[in-house]
Amino acid sequence: MVERRGVVVLGATGSVGRSACNVLRRHADRFRVVGLSAAQNSDALDMLAAEFEPEFAVLAGGDADTHEAAWTGEWRYGPAALIEAAADRRADIVVNALVGSAGLEATLAALGAGKRLALANKESLVAGGPLVVQAWRDGTGDILPVDSEHSAIHQCLAGRPSSEVRRLILTASGGPFRKTPASEFTEIRCADALAHPTWDMGSKITVDSATLANKALEVIEAHLLFDIALDSIEVVVHPTSIIHSMVEFRDGSTMAQLGFPTMEVPILYALAAPERLPNEFEPFDPVAAGPLEFEHVRHDAFPMFELGLAAARTGGTAPAAYSAANEIAVAAFLEGELPFTGIPEVVDAVLGSWEGGPADSVQAVVVADSEARRQAMEAVGNRRNR
Ligand code: MG
Repeated sequence: MVERRGVVVLGATGSVGRSACNVLRRHADRFRVVGLSAAQNSDALDMLAAEFEPEFAVLAGGDADTHEAAWTGEWRYGPAALIEAAADRRADIVVNALVGSAGLEATLAALGAGKRLALANKESLVAGGPLVVQAWRDGTGDILPVDSEHSAIHQCLAGRPSSEVRRLILTASGGPFRKTPASEFTEIRCADALAHPTWDMGSKITVDSATLANKALEVIEAHLLFDIALDSIEVVVHPTSIIHSMVEFRDGSTMAQLGFPTMEVPILYALAAPERLPNEFEPFDPVAAGPLEFEHVRHDAFPMFELGLAAARTGGTAPAAYSAANEIAVAAFLEGELPFTGIPEVVDAVLGSWEGGPADSVQAVVVADSEARRQAMEAVGNRRNR
């Protein structure tokens, strides 16, 4: 019998976290849940803890005095407990499915403790890029991407070095406004942006997919994970999301990874790689899939894409500022305080005057993050009062 690998799931009650729990439930013979965390959703976490019986559960946004739970195991509270959980000695694998740059310290803690990090929290990689890459190179930990595009690239690369790669081709569904004329973007409402054509995801990433901010974050993510120059990463719109991404090698061969669009495939791969565990998903049917169509990104209609790449080229704390300002702008849009076209306006206002500096410590990233948030909130306020 194979020894079961210990898994900590951070952000267990979110969209990726719930998918991770589905995978763990199906493969209980291979993995045991060591720890689970949620920010606020204590009822959902309580139910997951009762089901999986982990060593501990973390309610990051709660405290012992006010928390009531049915599960009688070990409860921990506060953000520091997340960092402890990421480095827990009983865990072999840490799934980081936290939302936003708040996941950075957990990412660094998991790598510092030599874990396999199944990384869904792309914002922490973007914000703390050089720090995360350093922690990864210095230690015995590893990063397995949970993002479908990066999982595809990881699978296509199959361990070959970046020197053999000519180009990465990331596919993008194009989001719900792929065909919307730029002149109609001012009319977009929250419900329109939350209706993603091919993927069922959390609300923040769904809006990011609609603005293409998500794709800019993914280009930065690919650049950091696979050590490929930004200029050698191309994005093409592929509306049916069947090809998850491609790698063009220097010998002229291009590899693609295809599959049914569900996060459970990349999650299972990140947990089990290089082994392939059985999965019950709808198989790829080339005849039913029909022609595979591709289009260029409409840069005029999606300024968030170019703003993200510009921040990446600037480097230092600019990607952290981009990501943080975007989080504020998306939250304001979801609250109905900002129109869809206000999202790039707010982010542009923050980046346009960004002072920068190197992202060489957690402190530097945290300061940049909170400063960008402050400036973004100010920009949201200014826009409202206009
Ligand atoms: Mg993705």
